[in-house]
Amino acid sequence: TRDITVDASSTEHAERIVNAVKSLEDIEILEIYDRTFNLHRGGKISVESTLHIKNQSDLAMAYTPGVGRVSKAIANDPELVHTLTMKGNTVAIVTDGSAVLGLGNLGPEAAMPVMEGKAMLFKEFAGIDAFPICLATQDVDEIVETVKRLAPVFGGVNLEDIAAPRCFEIERRLKKEIDIPVFHDDQHGTAIVTLAALINALKLVKKSLPEICIVINGAGAAGVAIARLLRQAGADRILLCDSKGIVSKEREGLTPEKQEFASPQTGTLADAMKEADVFIGVSAPGVLTPEMVRSMAAEPIVMAMANPIPEIQPELVDGAVAVMATGRSDYVNQINNVLAFPGIFRGALDCRSKELTITMFLEAAGAIASLIPPAKLDREYIVPSVFDERVVTAVSAAVQHAARQAGLARC
Ligand code: NAP
Ligand code: MG
Repeated sequence: TRDITVDASSTEHAERIVNAVKSLEDIEILEIYDRTFNLHRGGKISVESTLHIKNQSDLAMAYTPGVGRVSKAIANDPELVHTLTMKGNTVAIVTDGSAVLGLGNLGPEAAMPVMEGKAMLFKEFAGIDAFPICLATQDVDEIVETVKRLAPVFGGVNLEDIAAPRCFEIERRLKKEIDIPVFHDDQHGTAIVTLAALINALKLVKKSLPEICIVINGAGAAGVAIARLLRQAGADRILLCDSKGIVSKEREGLTPEKQEFASPQTGTLADAMKEADVFIGVSAPGVLTPEMVRSMAAEPIVMAMANPIPEIQPELVDGAVAVMATGRSDYVNQINNVLAFPGIFRGALDCRSKELTITMFLEAAGAIASLIPPAKLDREYIVPSVFDERVVTAVSAAVQHAARQAGLARC
């Protein structure tokens, strides 16, 4: 008997391999297991005690009666909860399961492995204790009310995989109603890393944000947040497109977020792409054609970030673009939110910021971009690796600096 490991690209692929092996004479399959499923058994995170209770005295301090004095102190001065409990280092990862990864509305249970994974990343990259809160409701009022009532436990709220346009209202209302930072990673994490990558890509082609034309394809959570952050960073000409083409002022029934970027121009994505300097895709697989890329201005930058299949496969435009980026780890220039959210929360928790602002996002993007010195900058290296340990420190410092400047830091 032998253990054989097969790297299959999908469940169907794995089944075909197993069937092929079964059909071989002299071979009997005793057991099959899936390494990915095995790794998930029992979940990926757990809660651990930070103390070891060895005797009565430890017990009396850590729990009753000692803990009672601590509770009374917090009742007298609620700010103490940040330092005398886990609150100051704990983040709620809140989802309604309505937009799980790129997979759609899978519900709260199916969202659990993803949110556990996110919690794992918070811990691994920033030492933050994050906890999955997968809600059995997709109603805006109920989500807002639930998070408000859970807020005493947490130092921050990371909204995750909540479908647009509902996600915009939930974030806006929570920011107003609770005094801890609220961050929707699918929006702002994406926008920060996209801006960081764009800052560096523009250095390579010697163009500047105010002068270029940027097409953003996809006007959902990621597209709208990217458009807002790029505008704040100085981009002047942004054409936002969705499944119907250019988001145009002439269209009826636009959501408020789409209205913000509606253009006098009408037309298709192909029309928008003519003479564009930058394409940013946060939409759907395969919607960008090589012809559209060829119609762009000189030295085009293409960031095709639909996951797992980008708007255009990099091989199709090899040599035709100045810089190419995707959301995938198997190509160069991966636009990965892990570069942003751990440091964003590390910074916010460490200075106990009341909120997160677009200025902090701008500074975070600048900090990520500047980790690559000009001499090392290359068309295949515009963002640091997610394993570059300088990233979390740089992003955290940028957030804290902006929080102090704005008077939002509480310590
Ligand atoms: P979302 O909120 O569901 O928004 C999707 C947007 O794409 C919508 O505006 C939709 O148009 C538009 N769209 C769908 N099909 C289209 C098509 N054929 N042509 C043009 N636009 C089309 O999703 P999201 O959270 O923003 O994410 C969008 C995509 O980006 C996903 O594939 C996601 O995996 C990827 N993403 C990648 C990263 C990363 O790599 N770091 C980060 C975030 C998101 P309508 O408004 O007309 O429906
Ligand atoms: Mg997400």
